[in-house]
Amino acid sequence: MNKIMKSTFEEIGAKTGLKLDEATGTLIGVHNGYHFWVYFMQGGGYYAEVSVAKDGQPIGEETMKNARKSIAAIKSVANNGYVVTIHIKGQLKWTVIDNVTEVVRSFSDYLELNEYEDVCQVCGKPSESISSYNTQSGVNFICDDCHVDFTPPTIDEDMAEDKVVERTSLGAVGAILGSLIGVAAIIFLYKLGYVAVAAGLIMGVCTIGGYVKFGKRLSTKGIIIGGIIMAVMIYLAVKIYAIMNIVTIANEYYDVGFWEIYRYFWELIVESGSFKDVIKLLGEQYLFSGIGAIIMIVRYVKLNMFQDINYKIQ
Ligand SMILES: [Zn+2]
Repeated sequence: MNKIMKSTFEEIGAKTGLKLDEATGTLIGVHNGYHFWVYFMQGGGYYAEVSVAKDGQPIGEETMKNARKSIAAIKSVANNGYVVTIHIKGQLKWTVIDNVTEVVRSFSDYLELNEYEDVCQVCGKPSESISSYNTQSGVNFICDDCHVDFTPPTIDEDMAEDKVVERTSLGAVGAILGSLIGVAAIIFLYKLGYVAVAAGLIMGVCTIGGYVKFGKRLSTKGIIIGGIIMAVMIYLAVKIYAIMNIVTIANEYYDVGFWEIYRYFWELIVESGSFKDVIKLLGEQYLFSGIGAIIMIVRYVKLNMFQDINYKIQ
């Protein structure tokens, strides 16, 4: 999660008693006896969720409408069974801190006033044993009794299976295939005289993208595998590019082939005085490919924030 969002959540946490959960990048905790989950959704903004019931019944339309009218920071309120989702106004840090704090405080007061109880979102009963679980649908508040036979909501079996295991060797194959596109990009873009940035970005994006496409998941292990493949392939690409240049120049005087140059590569590079250029080329490509890889990793993490997981948080 980014720094601004992290400090935003930490500020809200300090005011409400909710805690920042690093794994989900969200706020979770109990305020005034109610379990709250606060999260940010790309394109939507900030949301809070609670799970409540009154006499075993989910929250009513009228109650939600009145909450929206009486609490200024609320944009909209909706429920799905016992789960109440509150869309909170504001995008900028200080507005968000004020508004989320206001919603957590006032909405829990409002719930209490209207005699709603904090309940397990599956059975709708109040319980001492309600815990927070990180599942495919986000953070769920579930009692121990229900969690025994709880399956996370709606997800295709095949997808679930794919999600469970990272297919490391297939991922490596994907990374190699992706990196070959990167190799071609480095060689041809340099030959055509284009800027090095594009070639590096392509290398980084395609290698990590290839890993995810084939491996289905991306763990630290995957990032290391992708990184190693990328490093080797960049070296190879730069070497091939340099050899092609040498062959072109050398062939004006002698008849030499690719593999001859390949064998004595570094000697030739040092002798011809182009050592610095080749190192600079390598350095550029490592840098830009690294950036490309990071772009893909961040994208992956964002897309998978709430997927392939089901574990107890607190
Ligand atoms: Zn339950």
